[in-house]
Amino acid sequence: MLNGEKSIPRPLRWAMIGGGRLSQVGYKHRSGALRDNTAYQMVASAFDIDAERGRDFGVNLGLAAERCYDNYQQLLAEEAKREDGVEVVSIATPNGTHYEITKAALNAGIHVICEKPLFFTCAEAQEIKQLAATKGLIVGVTYGFSGHPLLMQMRAMIANGEIGDVRMVELQYTHGFSANDSADKFSEAQKWRVDPKIAGPSFVLGDISTHTFYISQLVLPQLKVKSLLCDRQSFIPSRAPLEDNAMVLMHYDNGAVGRMWASSINAGSMDSQSIRVIGSRASLEWSDYNPGELKYEVQGQPNQIMHHGMPYLHESALADERLGALHTEGLAESWANIYLKLAIAISATQRGDQQTLDNLIYPDINAGIEGVRWIENCVRSADNGASWVNYE
Ligand code: NAD
Repeated sequence: MLNGEKSIPRPLRWAMIGGGRLSQVGYKHRSGALRDNTAYQMVASAFDIDAERGRDFGVNLGLAAERCYDNYQQLLAEEAKREDGVEVVSIATPNGTHYEITKAALNAGIHVICEKPLFFTCAEAQEIKQLAATKGLIVGVTYGFSGHPLLMQMRAMIANGEIGDVRMVELQYTHGFSANDSADKFSEAQKWRVDPKIAGPSFVLGDISTHTFYISQLVLPQLKVKSLLCDRQSFIPSRAPLEDNAMVLMHYDNGAVGRMWASSINAGSMDSQSIRVIGSRASLEWSDYNPGELKYEVQGQPNQIMHHGMPYLHESALADERLGALHTEGLAESWANIYLKLAIAISATQRGDQQTLDNLIYPDINAGIEGVRWIENCVRSADNGASWVNYE
């Protein structure tokens, strides 16, 4: 159980790039990082493409005005001159800027926590992995839903054989917020998401399905995709060549099969994201809309619902618990768990504590690369007439 006590010797000096006043995701970063004030201390920012608005916002959050910088280049240059300069930055800017900002931060000797999808291409991601290794720095990815404790329960039960042999993986991340094109015209966050120059090679595949794909890898670490078929389309024609809907069929290397539906045109749906893993004996199902419950359905027996925080859960699920059973945990707790694990990874790297790094499960650079790889393979299949392709 987590209670905010020190997990690392001292809080990390942290800054945000992007995630400003009007952004969708910025507050999730701050509430995640600052939840335990023993993990991070926010000391600087380049919050906004609009420097003045970014400074005003930073000052309102309690930062010193002189450490609210006009842009990320100025932040990296000025912080490098300070004894107490920034050690880690979070990048919460539109996708097309992640690569250049990550590279610049690593070259400045600063650890990086970056938004998904990490970059546009696997080649970029491999280059950054190499750079981070050379510099001895961490690159983490904010798959913010992956910190829910019951996902660790799912992982432990599957590993223990409690559902039998895995046969099917059913994944879904859908919503209806882009069912019409009104937001494409007025929302800054939506405009760039449907512009390939800024969003990259996909819309919903990168924007939402990367989360669910990472969750599938978290709970099924041994299962590898062997081939896939992706059919993608844009129901709002102006979004083409990017997709507002995609369906993917997968073959895994153990003979299991899988399916992912990613969509932003699922009109009226507020279900968001779910994963169902079907084994030869039983199934497990979890949804982020009700993350404190895990369905465990054994063929021929009454269905069970497992609740977060209960003593019957695996120790790895209880270790990530914050509020205790009976009290609703949600996305903020999940983000706080991810940010804490990233802090532990960064601190362990700073102290040369390899044992901690080897035992820590968190969304690292490899998880980021896998997200980019997933998008690349899906797009290659879709653009090849929705044909089966080997997973490369
Ligand atoms: P947004 O358009 O709502 O906000 C972007 C923010 O970045 C704004 O504050 C903008 O001023 C700032 N910005 C843009 N360019 C900048 C630059 N060069 N330097 C500094 N600041 C800059 O976008 P969003 O929806 O918040 O998405 C941002 C990123 O977060 C994207 O990569 C997106 O995929 C990701 N995201 C992740 C989650 C999640 O759950 N992990 C949720 C939403 C968005």
